Amino acid sequence: MYDLSSVRADFPILSREVYKRPLVYLDNAATTQKPRCVVEAIAEEYYSVNANVHRGVHFLSQQATDLHEAARERVRSFLNARSSAEIVFTRGTTESLNLVAFSYGEAFLREGDEVVLTVMEHHSNIVPWQLLRERKGIRLRVVPMNDAGELDLEAYRNLLNERTRLVCCAHVSNVLGTVNPVREMAAMAHACGAHFLVDGAQSVPHFPVDVQSLDCDFLVFSGHKVYGPTGIGVLYGREELLEQMPPYQGGGEMIARVSFERTTFERLPFKFEAGTPDYVGTHALARALDYVSDLGLDAIQCHERELTRYAMEQMALLPGMQLYGTAREKDAVVAFNLEGIHPLDLGTLLDRLGIAIRTGHHCAQPLMERCGVEGMARASFALYTTRAEVDAFVAGLDRVRKMF
Ligand code: PMP
Repeated sequence: MYDLSSVRADFPILSREVYKRPLVYLDNAATTQKPRCVVEAIAEEYYSVNANVHRGVHFLSQQATDLHEAARERVRSFLNARSSAEIVFTRGTTESLNLVAFSYGEAFLREGDEVVLTVMEHHSNIVPWQLLRERKGIRLRVVPMNDAGELDLEAYRNLLNERTRLVCCAHVSNVLGTVNPVREMAAMAHACGAHFLVDGAQSVPHFPVDVQSLDCDFLVFSGHKVYGPTGIGVLYGREELLEQMPPYQGGGEMIARVSFERTTFERLPFKFEAGTPDYVGTHALARALDYVSDLGLDAIQCHERELTRYAMEQMALLPGMQLYGTAREKDAVVAFNLEGIHPLDLGTLLDRLGIAIRTGHHCAQPLMERCGVEGMARASFALYTTRAEVDAFVAGLDRVRKMF
């Protein structure tokens, strides 16, 4: 296990105060704080390397290109992809999902084809598929879950049929924290000839994710949730699929040759990266991946799981506490309501105590409907969260509870 106090010292924001109280930041599923090395990577590059990538013959451009492509290789090794041609940089999970919906949808989906989602998907893994349904007349099927927040694999098996082309599933629910059995689900999808996409937004920051071992066809994640900068994200796609998919956007960088009659496209992954990429963001993301790898994702997972277990145990002792998501495989997120208190009031009152949590529908309204609520409160943990912070949070909840 790493040393928590020295890790916390790497994150300057964690020692600030809000309302004259020490900050207790428990909104890590929304975004994580950044270690000094990530912020410094951004500053260093702007101070001493900055130049546009891939086009210049000059020294700085070549150096910036080398950093950018080294970052791609870093992501490849982090995910254990076969080739860096399979790593496409995007703005984040949302853009990666829109890219797949648009481009895979163009190449592979016809009217009447079926795409399977789950009831616990984030809106960004629902709405792009609905937009595609409008354009292509595909059909969306939804895997249900039980009251513990575990997907119903029997129902999933029954949804799969010869019209199923693609299954899209969150690796970890951003609300319930459920870790879905995506390896098993991908094997089931492949057995019926369908492809499998993993939304790794909430898994990549918390435990080792290996695309070859999962045997998934696509995996997407956001840099800002894994201690990297905002505005940079990743799409992993199996090379033979990406080869068959048309470009998502047109512009510079993604072309081989352009004339008014005809344009040919660059090789992978550049075909999907129109325009100047966020080359500073990719470099800083690589630093963030180095940071979590140096601590060890197994150690991070062990720490966060222990905290989650402890938090749920303590929270369950409070009268009127309703916990959502009690799956056996659960990670770093605890969603809840306190009887008689609107989650927004709860969040606002905790905030005055310096405790930052999330409230609302968490971009998962179908899941809220399934749970029969308008909204929930959510605390989510990170590699730097301490037991003392969980204690402060539970004490804060108790204090708020007594006000009502
Ligand atoms: N999927 C999941 C499971 C998420 O938790 C999130 C972010 N809350 C997203 C997708 C969207 O990520 P982003 O806003 O970074 O594109």
